Amino acid sequence: PKYVYMFSEGDKEQKDLLGGKGANLAEMTNLGLPVPPGFTITTDACRSYMDTRSMPEEIEVQVTTALREVEAAIGRGFGDNDNPLLVSVRSGAKFSMPGMMETVLNIGLNDQSVEGLAKLSGNERFAWDSYRRLIQMFGKTVLDIDGDLFANALDDLKEARGVATDPELSAEDLKELVATFKQITKEQSGADFPQDPREQLDKSVEAVFNSWNTERAVLYRRRERIPHDLGTAVNVCTMVFGNLGEGSGTGVCFTRDPATGHSGVYGDYLEDAQGEDVVAGIRNTLPLAELEKLDKKSYDELRAAMRRLETHYRDLCDIEFTVEKGKLWLLQTRVGKRTAAAAFRVATQLVDEKLITVDESIERVTGAQLSQLMFPQFDEDADKTLLAKGMAASPGAAVGEIAFDSVQAQEAQAAGRDAILVRRETNPDDLPGMIAAIGVLTSRGGKTSHAAVVARGMGTTCVVGAEAVTIDAAKQELRVGDTVLTRGDIIAIDGTSGEIFVGDVPVVPSPVMTYIADGLDAALEQAHDEETKELVHAVDRILTHADKVRRLRVRANSDTPEDSIAARKRGAEGIGLCRTEHMFLGDRRTYVERVILAETAEEQDAALEALVPLQRGDFIEIFEAMDGLPTTVRLIDPPLHEFLPDLTDLSVKVALGKERGEDVSREEKLLEAVLRMHEANPMLGLRGVRLGVKIPGMFGLQIRAIAEAYVERKKAGGDPKPEIMVPLVGSVRELQIVRERAEKILAEVAEEAGIEVDLPIGAMIELPRAAVTIESITDESDFFSFGTNDLTQTVWGFSRDDVESAFFDEYQEASIFGVSPFESIDERGVGTLVKMGVDGARAVKPNIHLGVCGEHGGDPDSIHFFHRVGLDYVSCSPFRVPVARLEAGRAAV
Ligand code: ADP
Ligand code: MG
Ligand code: MG
Repeated sequence: PKYVYMFSEGDKEQKDLLGGKGANLAEMTNLGLPVPPGFTITTDACRSYMDTRSMPEEIEVQVTTALREVEAAIGRGFGDNDNPLLVSVRSGAKFSMPGMMETVLNIGLNDQSVEGLAKLSGNERFAWDSYRRLIQMFGKTVLDIDGDLFANALDDLKEARGVATDPELSAEDLKELVATFKQITKEQSGADFPQDPREQLDKSVEAVFNSWNTERAVLYRRRERIPHDLGTAVNVCTMVFGNLGEGSGTGVCFTRDPATGHSGVYGDYLEDAQGEDVVAGIRNTLPLAELEKLDKKSYDELRAAMRRLETHYRDLCDIEFTVEKGKLWLLQTRVGKRTAAAAFRVATQLVDEKLITVDESIERVTGAQLSQLMFPQFDEDADKTLLAKGMAASPGAAVGEIAFDSVQAQEAQAAGRDAILVRRETNPDDLPGMIAAIGVLTSRGGKTSHAAVVARGMGTTCVVGAEAVTIDAAKQELRVGDTVLTRGDIIAIDGTSGEIFVGDVPVVPSPVMTYIADGLDAALEQAHDEETKELVHAVDRILTHADKVRRLRVRANSDTPEDSIAARKRGAEGIGLCRTEHMFLGDRRTYVERVILAETAEEQDAALEALVPLQRGDFIEIFEAMDGLPTTVRLIDPPLHEFLPDLTDLSVKVALGKERGEDVSREEKLLEAVLRMHEANPMLGLRGVRLGVKIPGMFGLQIRAIAEAYVERKKAGGDPKPEIMVPLVGSVRELQIVRERAEKILAEVAEEAGIEVDLPIGAMIELPRAAVTIESITDESDFFSFGTNDLTQTVWGFSRDDVESAFFDEYQEASIFGVSPFESIDERGVGTLVKMGVDGARAVKPNIHLGVCGEHGGDPDSIHFFHRVGLDYVSCSPFRVPVARLEAGRAAV
């Protein structure tokens, strides 16, 4: 098979095969942009390497051929000591994993060719700087040598020479550093640094393949839901040099501001530097606009390339570039990560610029981004103590305790406390801490630094480059002037303004939340600047369009009038799940106890009867809140003993009471009942429809309360639309029995009221048996709602309350599933049953109304699935309603 593709052979659609970086390098090459020649070794090769633990045989020859082509293109020789071709070996998976995997630069240098390079370039210092970088990167990534050994040796040398920055070191200094680095390599790896360029190349390629499975790469993929079996491609690219002194440099830029979406000149540039120097935050970078003064020709060319790429990709791009002695080279581009606010603004800007259609614009944003924008912000008017200001890198308002490293952040998280990870700068080793923390603060680095890029990707609040802040991890101190804070002290960071405050700061609803809850005018009034107004308008345009195109209706899970009102404001088109268990709690527990303790049928009926007016009141309020919209009421679902006192508490009470000689006969009877009703597996026990069959009065009282509430609302001129839903049905007979009794009650209420009471009655589909026998159940059911929480429980045989913390981490690590099936629907298993259910029900009643009411109703991936299988609506928590509206729209275009 063909494992090696020249850049000129690929294009941007081939991300699966060439990885994101390789596909985009190919695209840029074919656009005629200045990309140094090179080639890509495919992800197929990586997968084969991972399967067999050895390089596919064909690669050797294919790489040789590709190298020849590169040599011919630029007139240098790989391994030619006088005229050496140097290359970089760069990882690049389908999904970008910034800083997660490895890159080795300057491959091809050795003790001879370093002299050749010095002569060729007329710059001895540069040649030795390149060589020391090669040994350093090769040592770290290929030979697994602790990177600090090299970094410390470099720091020691600078200190010995009394200089602050790398460029101040002389050629002689760097020669000495190379000797030190070679010695470190020998000591640590037991072998000399390899002098054979091809050996350097082959080993680097293998190291990139191996880096796919490093701990931090695995962790990142899990966090980002990237499958573990994709593998990475390897890009071999001719080196161009930004470390050739003045007139050379390297930089990163965005075609639009990744924080606001505004188009303009955004980026960082660093003179006389190579590779990671810009993003590592080692030296402070220049804003890109400064390049115009330094080198107008390269700057103009870069601006033209930025415009070209944005028009071509029809999206915000980020770009890595290098200027080598006044010549511009592009080293990477991709559709850039951006903040949630920027995503919405950019999407509508691109529509206005006629680069994309309105349909496309809703695909450019996600429900996750929308929910980020709905999070609260710091209260502008609150009293707060400003500590310092950095750069806004990833928005949000985070308040938490200072953690100086990953371990501290993880400890805080484990203890249930919010932490802000505070570092001078971050590198990929800080990833566990960044995941555990709710915010990240650094004192160095720009908007393209590691901390900024990763935090934006994760949606974690982040402020970077707060230069006034001194962070001393060794002393566990954060200092600003005279203020000294230490581990555990509370700070607040604002990822939208870059502000850092001491102590707790109160938060208020975001303008987007105000828009969603109270409408456009209220939000525009709250927005205090043009940027925010623009954002509110963008969200409005996109949500409005999503509503227009979506087929799925969106309902909310709500069981109080307040939640129902909130859900309705957020666009809910009904209630898909009104749980009724709370109507038995609080003061009403005594009624349930009376039901259970009743010695005669009359006693039991009386106790149930007493609950009717109470529940009727509840329903009246909810139906009023949802006037004109369907409201699916689920009859009581949990096992009855959940309403009884706790066994231990009760035992203690009885024992104590007896000791004191009190009358505890009622408690004793209760205790007996609790013991009698104890179940080994309550979730699979007496609950749902089973309870309805065994104690008909339980469902009876609820049905009567629903019907009477319906009548009352009708008589008040309202338009109530209750639907009665029976939980945990497994057999059509169960539903038949409940329906017969229900219809009798409805008829009685109708008779009493003198109006028609004809309410739909349907089953919740949450047992595999119900899904596979749905055709027979359909005759008895006016609608169905898939209860995917219980369905997942019963399909997998997973006890939801136990399994997630018990072994899901291990399951995810072992790729048994990528995401918890309780979070995102398991399409193969649970989804297949849903699909069977849909198809079976529609075969009997083509127009039967079908919905879903599990947690999955608010999960973006699951919503797309429910759209595909043809459900009519999803139901989710009120907060997620806007997210579901957007995702349902995205699913439809
Ligand atoms: P990452 O995926 O972490 O961005 P890259 O493969 O892009 O890793 O490379 C790391 C750094 O090295 C980047 O700054 C990149 O621009 C630089 N780099 C990679 N290849 C070359 C090359 N051939 N010439 C000069 N710089 C390079
Ligand atoms: Mg890169
Ligand atoms: Mg259930």
